[in-house]
Amino acid sequence: MAGDYYQTLGVSRTADAAEIKKAYRKLARKFHPDVNPGNESAEQKFKEIQEAYAVLSDADRRTQYDTFGTVEGDPTAGFDPFRRARGRAGGGAGAGGFTVDFDGVGGFQDLGDIFGQFFGGARPGRARRAPRRGEDHELAVEVSFEDAVRGTTVSLPVQRQMQCAACGGAGQQSRSSCASCHGAGVVISTERMRVKIPEGVTDGTRVRVGGKGAEGVLGGSPGDLFVRVKVRPHPFFEREGDDIRTTVPVTFPEAYLGGEIEVGTVHGPVRAKVPAGTSSGRTFRLRGKGVRNTRTRAYGDHLYTVEIVVPRVVSPVGEESARRVADLYQGNPRDGLPRSL
Ligand SMILES: [Zn+2]
Repeated sequence: MAGDYYQTLGVSRTADAAEIKKAYRKLARKFHPDVNPGNESAEQKFKEIQEAYAVLSDADRRTQYDTFGTVEGDPTAGFDPFRRARGRAGGGAGAGGFTVDFDGVGGFQDLGDIFGQFFGGARPGRARRAPRRGEDHELAVEVSFEDAVRGTTVSLPVQRQMQCAACGGAGQQSRSSCASCHGAGVVISTERMRVKIPEGVTDGTRVRVGGKGAEGVLGGSPGDLFVRVKVRPHPFFEREGDDIRTTVPVTFPEAYLGGEIEVGTVHGPVRAKVPAGTSSGRTFRLRGKGVRNTRTRAYGDHLYTVEIVVPRVVSPVGEESARRVADLYQGNPRDGLPRSL
């Protein structure tokens, strides 16, 4: 018995028929056994999706389920998501009781649509015989902060839709459905691909790899592969566009008397000045010490904010010095601040 049918389809209890159908199609595309050969958990998931859809797509059964939390008898009895099925083909053996066939012209509307979308419309029987560009694919990759700043090369398993070699994309062999692609005309192949992540990418950047999406149909050009880059944050360096921000602790004498301190940047340590009389929270800029822009190739800046650190140990000498320092302030630093809302 599957769990909650609404949860299985990822829809709310108030979802209408169109929403339920849309959610079902999306999930069926993802978990269909032909797309996940040998993957038992996907197969199980596919069955659960089928069962949930069988109940929720039927008004009477849905009402029964909503009222009693269960459906009498086999919830999938009499349910055929692929209407007017003409027979059984090998392709659906993994679907557990559902006949899945791809060569049924006019039949299998839902599955045809499912694979039509998945395979970029390369549906046998009603395919338009004109060259079409392959679909774009998108993949996600996570890189470290350092790799994003410096650029890197990642190796990714890329799934590509390729024309079926056995039938040449026709989906049929000697008038019957092609056994290799089950009539879809295309197969999914996985290859490892090295993708260059340019220096300076920001979180969310999509890197385009031309021509590495789905293969074109009937001689059409291939789609592109887009690699969406997620950048892990850094505990110390904070990125703001092409600029880098850090906070730099300084001692009271350094802030009061001024001096030279070392500031860590993504390009390595840099000697930087702290002018005499610097207060906590002041920010200084090191030009060109930030991240390189992927387009303009110009470097951003490094911005460091000074934070005065107060010594922890209190000694009589320290107390005496602090009292003398108090005399240096001209007036109350909080003068001029609003005292309430
Ligand atoms: Zn084929």
